[in-house]
Amino acid sequence: MIVAPVPEEPPPPGLDVDGLPQAARNKTAISARNGIIFLGSISICYPQAKKSLVPNDQFSRIYNPAPKPYFFSSPRYNKQVMGRLIRGLAADGNLRVLAALTTDIAEEARTRHDLSPTPTAALGRAMTGALLLTFLLSKTPKERITLQFRGDGPLGGPIAEAAPDGMVRGYVKNTRVEPPLRPDGKLNVGAAVGQGELKVDRLLSNEELYQSSTELISGEIAEDLARYLWQSEQAPSAMLLGVRVHGQGEVQVAGGIAVQVLPDCPDEVVRQLEANLGGRSSITDLLLERGLEGTLETLLEGLDYQETDLSVVGYREGYIPLHFSCRCNRQRALNALVYFSPLERQEMIEQDGGAEVVCHWCGDKYQITPEEIRSLPTEEPVAQEVPRA
Ligand SMILES: [Zn+2]
Repeated sequence: MIVAPVPEEPPPPGLDVDGLPQAARNKTAISARNGIIFLGSISICYPQAKKSLVPNDQFSRIYNPAPKPYFFSSPRYNKQVMGRLIRGLAADGNLRVLAALTTDIAEEARTRHDLSPTPTAALGRAMTGALLLTFLLSKTPKERITLQFRGDGPLGGPIAEAAPDGMVRGYVKNTRVEPPLRPDGKLNVGAAVGQGELKVDRLLSNEELYQSSTELISGEIAEDLARYLWQSEQAPSAMLLGVRVHGQGEVQVAGGIAVQVLPDCPDEVVRQLEANLGGRSSITDLLLERGLEGTLETLLEGLDYQETDLSVVGYREGYIPLHFSCRCNRQRALNALVYFSPLERQEMIEQDGGAEVVCHWCGDKYQITPEEIRSLPTEEPVAQEVPRA
């Protein structure tokens, strides 16, 4: 048997650096719970332990499939366009505007993680918000932003990460949480997320990690992110995020806009913006009726919005392409096992015939063979030796 401490909850996910979460670099972060070993955002599942487990909603996906002998291909490397982001200026350059259509990204997350409607909405909003924040704050293409909504609600998350190359990924811990609808009939994301804090990790291009956190206002994601922008950047911003599900829970439309008020913006511009956005709790109706550009026209009416021509900065299509993709791969999954002692690894080989490593970010599973486990170095690496991507 694998001997490991058993905490009440798995450790919080750290910023995933090169497929190995920061938590994984510290062996004390390894914990066993219900037969699953948590390493930050990676689970390692022991077939031996599985036998005594009762699958629940959270983990049944991990146990269901018969082990596959080798790495199975995944569409995550196919950088197909799943969404688009446009940007512009309004009110004589006093307002910065970003808008993203993320319907296929939210749907990809829903199917990968088998999400019910409220987690779909929460994660879709968080991923869209992470993308908008990335393009608002990032100074260079190498930066990365991770949002962790650490509320006391039943959802556990959402957690989303985005980068200026248009990639985004994310997950929630409990995929089937469905609190009662709000009085207005909408999905109650705030109740699922709960009260707590929003933790924002920014990995800068010089590899410095900049961490900050703000208190959650409502757990509804958009206003929490607007508050973060105000507190961290001293930039008043409006953010609207929306995900609409229909039918069997498929995503019908998802997207968001962010408007940042730049310094010295005249008061009348701010008042006009507030009048335009006031009382809007959702933009999905607008996105469905008028599309992304039409939504901006409506929301910024009277503010002389001018879309930036992105084709002159290298985006041939005139927009920034977005996609759900993950940086996990077989080698990183295998590397996660380095943090187990030679004895523990021997038990994996002899008792379990290998190990299964599951990436929480994207849901991909890796069946690690005994030969691969034997190929691992017997000495534990120090953090500096973990190669960067
Ligand atoms: Zn992954």
